[in-house]
Amino acid sequence: MALTEYKRKRDFKKTGEPAAKPAPKKVKGASRFVIQKHAARRLHYDFRLEMEGVLKSWALPKGLPWKRGEKHLAVEVEDHPMEYADFEGVIPEGQYGGGTVMVWDRGTYYVYGEQPLKSLREGKLHLLLDGKKAKGEWTLVRIRGRDGEKNQWLILKTGDDAKPISSKLDDESAKTGRTMKEIADARDAEWQSGRAEDQSPTSQFKARIREAIKKKQKMNLLERHTRALEPRRRRVGCRLQSRARKAVVLQFRR
Ligand code: MN
Repeated sequence: MALTEYKRKRDFKKTGEPAAKPAPKKVKGASRFVIQKHAARRLHYDFRLEMEGVLKSWALPKGLPWKRGEKHLAVEVEDHPMEYADFEGVIPEGQYGGGTVMVWDRGTYYVYGEQPLKSLREGKLHLLLDGKKAKGEWTLVRIRGRDGEKNQWLILKTGDDAKPISSKLDDESAKTGRTMKEIADARDAEWQSGRAEDQSPTSQFKARIREAIKKKQKMNLLERHTRALEPRRRRVGCRLQSRARKAVVLQFRR
């Protein structure tokens, strides 16, 4: 067979090349993908594909499937701006999507058929991912009409099985190597979602607590500041008092 030689020469676990199909060509304006681990009200993974200058996005409650034939829910969500692809940090509590965000994986993607937009419209994207963690084929299939309340898709593991990610690697940023906790503790980057606040009771409650802590910290600072000034004020007060007393005494003497 013609492909025997092709197969013999390659260790597919190492190269990540599909065993029999040649990889699709790179499409202009459609090449980057990112998966962000997002500890919002519910932990999920946001799967994003660069297309036409925006990030087409799906929320994956269970992340990627690894075993051939396995499928996970993928809920299509609003497009995100390209700048968001590199964001790793914290979305303030009380804002839409409040919580910690990790750049879980990123890399290049290819679409079989090489027409990503057409495939997207038709509701079937046969992908080849070349990331740090995700390597190989996956397929996104829409399972409800575009006008449905929720745009539900499935992401299927197609092609070969992939080795599942260890829990250590699952909690390691592809951008900085940090864990979710380290990202949350560092708070070195904030993303203002600029969207209506998350009105869920839990989120609102957390936001109120955060505000209260902030206020309390401000009060403590103010108190310390006031206390530091106090002795001086007292001294000044005494001087004024004694001056006033002297004045009174002088008045009586007259
Ligand atoms: Mn999200």
